[in-house]
Amino acid sequence: MTLLRVEGLSKRFGGVVAARDVSFDLGPGEMLAIIGPNGAGKSTTFNMVGGQLRPDSGRVVLEGAEITGRPPRAVCRLGVGRTFQVAQTFLSMSVAQNVQMALIARAGRTRDLFAQADALYRDGALALLDRVGMRSEADRPIGELAYGDVKRVELAVALAASPRLLLMDEPTAGMAPRERAGLMQLTASIARERSIGVLFTEHDMDAVFAHADRILVLVRGEIIAAGTPEEVRADEQVKRVYLGT
Ligand code: ADP
Ligand code: MG
Repeated sequence: MTLLRVEGLSKRFGGVVAARDVSFDLGPGEMLAIIGPNGAGKSTTFNMVGGQLRPDSGRVVLEGAEITGRPPRAVCRLGVGRTFQVAQTFLSMSVAQNVQMALIARAGRTRDLFAQADALYRDGALALLDRVGMRSEADRPIGELAYGDVKRVELAVALAASPRLLLMDEPTAGMAPRERAGLMQLTASIARERSIGVLFTEHDMDAVFAHADRILVLVRGEIIAAGTPEEVRADEQVKRVYLGT
């Protein structure tokens, strides 16, 4: 079964071809990594899937329904989640309240957002926090947490929307190597238990090769290789142009 099908996506910025004929499939519970040098077109590809950018050509199909060019809010409502940056969490609110807000928003009760954030959905928030290892920090202001812990809360916030597909553009940027491996491990196990497809980018090749089920290698907007970590590692072109070995 295909969760996400991307067919021939292309995008130019002036004279720069940021993506050229990018195609791939992603199944439920699958961890798919996009790797490639800076400027390869990874974020452009994410943004075309998430609705932040309209492709020049090509199609994005989610669970059989075409979503190409739909705005981000619509794409989100159809089950595509993104992990948000720190700036988008509410720093003075508690960890639990941040997750509760996401649960309340998901339920469409946005009018209750501030008035009832204390009481509503607390159990659901605590269960999600427990899953990401942050239950004990539930009542601390999120602004007090270490960076790596904020990243775990961001994952809980993303999960609160019950996504079918999660887009994670460099989720571990700025984290220490050990924390990074922990977050990737956690993401992979949650993806499998909930059948969530995960599309991610990551600079840390150890983390990619350890946690991706499949890897796409993007260079100058084009996929030059795709396959399992073993296949990609053994690919002569990848070794030559990207891994530098
Ligand atoms: P990556 O995420 O792999 O580092 P990007 O998708 O951000 O790469 O960028 C791919 C190419 O497109 C780069 O050459 C970049 O400079 C260009 N680009 C990306 N976004 C824009 C934009 N909004 N306007 C102009 N050029 C852009
Ligand atoms: Mg990028």
